[in-house]
Amino acid sequence: MPVPSSILDLPSPDRCPGALRPHAAADGALVRLRLPGGQISATALTALGTLSGEFGDGDVHLTSRGNLQIRGLSDPLPEAFIAGLVETGLLPSPTHERARNIVASPLSGIAGGRADIRSLVPELDRLLCADPGLEGLSGRFLFGVDDGRGDLSGLRPDVWARFEDGGSARLGVGAFAGPLVAAGDVPVGMLDLARAFLATAGGVWNTRKLPDGGRGLLSSPEPDAPPQSEPMRYGLLDGAASVLAPLGVLGPQQISALGGGSDVVVTPWRGLVLAGVTDLAPLAAVGLAVTADSAWARVTACVGAPGCAKSAGDTRVVARKLAAAGAPHPVHVIGCERSCGAPTFDHDRVLVRSMQ
Ligand code: SF4
Repeated sequence: MPVPSSILDLPSPDRCPGALRPHAAADGALVRLRLPGGQISATALTALGTLSGEFGDGDVHLTSRGNLQIRGLSDPLPEAFIAGLVETGLLPSPTHERARNIVASPLSGIAGGRADIRSLVPELDRLLCADPGLEGLSGRFLFGVDDGRGDLSGLRPDVWARFEDGGSARLGVGAFAGPLVAAGDVPVGMLDLARAFLATAGGVWNTRKLPDGGRGLLSSPEPDAPPQSEPMRYGLLDGAASVLAPLGVLGPQQISALGGGSDVVVTPWRGLVLAGVTDLAPLAAVGLAVTADSAWARVTACVGAPGCAKSAGDTRVVARKLAAAGAPHPVHVIGCERSCGAPTFDHDRVLVRSMQ
């Protein structure tokens, strides 16, 4: 797919990075690839690893919204790198690439939940990209499709759908619940709410910034009461494996160990659900965490130095020490008060004040 030559000159409502709109980090340019529902083929993930090896720092980085980043790139982005990204098929719409922020219950259709939403997410994405008006959504605006298990409520999506028993889904905006709609009406209903947001946004980036928190976008709003969230499951599931990438980093060895799976879901908790994988040993051998009792389920960190100029020290060194010590409580290691990438569950914070 050709990339319009003017893509890098498109107006930007915010500075959130995209695949074609890099962020200048201390370790080079950074690009972020949106993966609606975290869905990516093992082939495309392998291709990203190869591109990172050739043009970036060699790793693929997982984000707290189930997206991927490549760091350490030159700026401007090399044309061959952009062409490689386009070849992966992960950029169906250059104009909407930063608006495709869709999180979805990563275990849907595999284990638990009230509905299989795996085909609904691409449909939502397709309709979003087909509407030129939705190009104006901020890169921070988040859609959430919850299969009924309540796992996304902590992410506070701007516009969400949550399935209930009987195949219908509740639509909502931020902290407010709205109407119950049939499953087939979910994508259109969600996008109508996004359009209503854009019509009243007045320059704010997400529904939380609206004076009423987005309540007025719904016809009969009620305070949302999400179900008790099921904890994320790790290990072998029914025909899939669920693993964590420590510090959200996939290196070349780890990416090549994923090759046995046909489809991959990147989770908002820096994990991977690998369809068709039935043996955890090769994944554990390359350092992926394969059990829920791994300390890496409790230890996270912002990128810190040297990737971020605001950090006084290397957050990852500290995080590795905490993980090695067992980390009895969830902890997020940060280089400054901005606390990037903090988990949505209760956690302690460790502020790094100097190089380790
Ligand atoms: S929390 Fe601060 S130091 Fe860490 S990545 Fe964000 S801005 Fe950089």
